[in-house]
Amino acid sequence: EPALTKIGDRMSNLTGVRAIMKDIKETLQTGKGQHYINLSPGNPVILEPVEQLWRKYTKELLDSSDYGQVVCRYGDSQGYEPLIEAIKTDFNRRYGLNLTERNILITPGSQNLYFYAANAFGGYSSAGQLKRIVLPLSPEYTGYGGLTLAPEALFAYKPTLEIDEANHRFKYRPDFSQFKIDESTGCVMFSRPCNPTGNVLTDEEVKKIADLASEHDVPVIIDSAYAPPFPALNFTDMQPLFGGNILHCLSLSKAGLPGERIGVAIGDEALVGVLESFQTNMCIHSARYGQAIAAKAIASGELADIAEQVIRPYYQNKFTVVESSLQEYMPQDIPWLLHRGEGAIFAWMWFQDLPITDWELYQQLKQVGIIVVPGSTFFPGLQEEWAHKHQCIRISLTAEDPEIVTGMQRLAQVISKIYQPL
Ligand code: PLP
Repeated sequence: EPALTKIGDRMSNLTGVRAIMKDIKETLQTGKGQHYINLSPGNPVILEPVEQLWRKYTKELLDSSDYGQVVCRYGDSQGYEPLIEAIKTDFNRRYGLNLTERNILITPGSQNLYFYAANAFGGYSSAGQLKRIVLPLSPEYTGYGGLTLAPEALFAYKPTLEIDEANHRFKYRPDFSQFKIDESTGCVMFSRPCNPTGNVLTDEEVKKIADLASEHDVPVIIDSAYAPPFPALNFTDMQPLFGGNILHCLSLSKAGLPGERIGVAIGDEALVGVLESFQTNMCIHSARYGQAIAAKAIASGELADIAEQVIRPYYQNKFTVVESSLQEYMPQDIPWLLHRGEGAIFAWMWFQDLPITDWELYQQLKQVGIIVVPGSTFFPGLQEEWAHKHQCIRISLTAEDPEIVTGMQRLAQVISKIYQPL
C-alpha cells in the first residue's frame, strides 16, 4: 500500500451513497437467483424522446463542417463558445437577465463545479482561518460529503419540520433562528429541488439566505440539477434566482446527458473567473462533443420543451404512484411520513420513532427483495446526534409503475412488523 497524504487519504475514501452503492452492486451480483426491485438508482431513466433528441443532434454534428473543430482541437477553458452563447441567449430571454459570456462557465459535470467551489471558497484562508461550507438545510445531496479537502469545513444546519400527521406528509424548512452567516463562512450551498428529499426551498427562503450571505460577500451556490428550464424536474412553481453573490449551477445530467458530464455555472464575472482558473489547472476544459450537441438542443429551444413535456410528467407521475400505493398499503396508525414531492427524482420517507436503524431497515427490505437507500448517508456536515438521521429512506422514482406498487406493498408489510408491539 502506498503511503498517502492527508488529502490522498481523504479522497480515496468512498463517502456517503457511493459506499452504499457498492453494497447494492454486490447484492445484485451475488443474489443471482433472486429478483430485486431496485428503488435505489440516482441514474435517470432513458426516455425515448430524450434519447432521440440527443441522437438527432449527434447526427447533425457528425455531418457538419464544425466536427473537426469540435473534437480534434483543444478549446477555451471556459467552455465551447456556441454552448455559452446558447445559454446566455436562452437565460437572458427567459429570465430577463443581462448575462455576458463572462458570466458563464462550463465544467465536466456539476459535481466538478462543486468541488472547485468548495475548495476555492471553503477550507483554510491564507491567514489560516477555517472558512465553512455551509448547508442551510439537511438532509442534502450526499455528494457534498466528499467535496472539500478540509472535511472539518463542511457544516450543515438541522432543519425545522413541518408535519401534517393526519395526512402522513412533512416538509423540511431552514431554521432561520439558528442559520448564521459571519466571517467564518466561506460559501453557502444547497440543492433546489433537493436530492434526496424532493424539497424546493421557497423563493422567499432563497432570497433570505442570499441576502444574509451578501452582507458578508459570501457566494451562494444554488445546485439546480433538477430545476427549470431543463430538466424542469420541479412539480411546484419556483423561480430561479440570479445576481449578486448567487452562483446558479446547472447540470445536463437529468436532461439526458449524464454520460457526457456537463455542468454550468452562471454568476458574477469575478466568481466565475476563480472557478475557471481552478478548472484550467485541474483539467484544462470539459469535453467538447457533449457541449456541441447541448448547444444545438438549447439554442433550438427543444431541450426546454422536452423537459416540460416529457421529463417532468414522467417523474411526477411516478411520485403519484408512490403516493397512492402508500395510501393503499401503509397502516394508518403507524407514524410514517412522506416528504412533500416538490421535485427531483426521489421520494423521501421518515418513520417517526422507528424501533430499528435505517441501516437495519435497509437490510430487512433487501430480505424481501426491495432495495432502497438508507437515509443516514444524506446528512453530510451534520455532526449533531439526531435520531431522525436514522429514521429515513430514499426511494428512487426510476422504477416501473408495477415495481413501485409492489415495492410499497412490501415496505408496508415490513414496516407493520417492525412497529408491531412485542
Ligand atoms: N447535485 C445534485 C443535487 C445531484 O443529484 C447530482 C447527481 O445526482 C449532482 C449534483 C451531480 O451531477 P453531475 O452529473 O452534473 O455531476
